[in-house]
Amino acid sequence: MTELAYLPDLPAAYVRSFRARITALPPGAVVLDRTFFYPTGGGQPNDRGTLGLPGQTPADVVDVTKSGASVVHRIRAPPQVLRQFSVGAEVEGALDWDRRYRHMRLHTAQHLLSARIFARTRLRTRKAQLAGTAATLDLEGPLPADALSLLAEDMADALRHPRPVTLRHVPRAEWDRNPYAERSGLVPLPPQVDPVRVVEIEASDICPCGGTHLRSTGEIGRVALRAPVPAVGGDRVGFSLEEPSMPTPPE
Ligand SMILES: [Zn+2]
Repeated sequence: MTELAYLPDLPAAYVRSFRARITALPPGAVVLDRTFFYPTGGGQPNDRGTLGLPGQTPADVVDVTKSGASVVHRIRAPPQVLRQFSVGAEVEGALDWDRRYRHMRLHTAQHLLSARIFARTRLRTRKAQLAGTAATLDLEGPLPADALSLLAEDMADALRHPRPVTLRHVPRAEWDRNPYAERSGLVPLPPQVDPVRVVEIEASDICPCGGTHLRSTGEIGRVALRAPVPAVGGDRVGFSLEEPSMPTPPE
């Protein structure tokens, strides 16, 4: 079992390097007792980076996936580097921060846009997918013709007035009574999810999510919306980050 160390609070999403212990070595991969590497899921791609023994040449982490209760870090390195790994050894992990931070900016912007779309049209987001410097949102119906320009104004306005993002772990019974659950209620939460990890953008959005997010919408920068295209069950709306790279502000 791997502890998902990026989950408990928002500052944990900003951890770029960490130490952990190897618990298993499947072929070409490493399992740790805890990790800050995000495994692919919920529309957010996996993190990349390096894993290595302290002071030694590290291996590249090329893919990260969940397998049951474990996180599997697929690695690539010369045989002499791989031979250093042994079960029980302590390793240092380092995230490819540019990649992860882009995902955090895209993911937080996606919550904001999904909320604005719901507020304007009552259309819920069926699924979202982040990739590179862009994201797509699949809606549960077609977007009205005039909605895109209004949403572009909404987003520009929202991003000019940064809002703090907070994370709470809400008992399931309390969440199920929450009237804000409506915007994200299209895909029911699995019954075993308790407590619910709830991401809130102040005065803008409340949504259960297991991804990594910013502490403020002020870190998103500007976004450019793309015209909707038809997809299964509704329209697909896209957006991209206007500043692909941004420095991470200090806490
Ligand atoms: Zn999220």
